[in-house]
Amino acid sequence: MKVGSVELIPVEDARGSPGTFAEFYSDVPAEAWQPYRALYPELFGGDRWRLACRSYLIRSGGRTVIVDTGVGPPGIWSWQPEYEGRLLASLDAVGVAPDDVDVVLLSHLHVDHVGWNTDRDGSVVFTHARHVLHRDAAAAAPGRVGPDRPHIERCIVALLDRGLVDEVAGATELAAGVVAIELAGHDVGHMGVRVESNGARAMLFVDSTPHPAFLDEPGWRFDADLDHAAAEATRRALVEELRDGDTLAVSGHYPGNGIGRVVTRGGRTVWEAA
Ligand SMILES: [Zn+2]
Repeated sequence: MKVGSVELIPVEDARGSPGTFAEFYSDVPAEAWQPYRALYPELFGGDRWRLACRSYLIRSGGRTVIVDTGVGPPGIWSWQPEYEGRLLASLDAVGVAPDDVDVVLLSHLHVDHVGWNTDRDGSVVFTHARHVLHRDAAAAAPGRVGPDRPHIERCIVALLDRGLVDEVAGATELAAGVVAIELAGHDVGHMGVRVESNGARAMLFVDSTPHPAFLDEPGWRFDADLDHAAAEATRRALVEELRDGDTLAVSGHYPGNGIGRVVTRGGRTVWEAA
């Protein structure tokens, strides 16, 4: 997919379920999901949330950026995978080796976004890359180290200790027309990516709107959000910006390749594949 002169390429790592809708959206009654089951059948496995964990490769001006690094080597995250561990094969399929990547944008500290920062042995995967992480996330990481979150030590602290992380804040250019931006609420220092080239635009909003039902119901509560008020404000602003416009709305957890648009259909605000 081209966004102006920028290339936007989906690279899937895994697919599976982290749990039930009741576990992640405890305030939302089961029947309220009904219209979204019809709109997004791929995202429902009975009462379980079913999703992809997909990264995006962005090429612009001779630089190669990857946005997030998936779940990582198989068996590391305790979820219900249908398959996992595919990121490096997905990159290979589009002709990219880990050493070709110049910038790894780490949107936030959750396990399904940083898994391939290191391999199973703890070796850095993207050996030629700078890893870009919000400074608040970098500051919070050491305090999250623990047996229930082994990925923090393996994927974040390991990079910080080796001096491989660029700690940023505010809007940060990653490549020509490719800018990391703060999208507050989901996690400390949560960031997305805005792409703009020759009048074309894309917005990678990562986990600020983790399920497309939120585009229609931005006030719903996502239990995994750190700051619910900030998360809701971010979602409402995203919907305002994206609805019925030309900007591509991109999410690694959405159906298909996750590249689509936010449109009004039958009185609802929905995501449609582009
Ligand atoms: Zn996620």
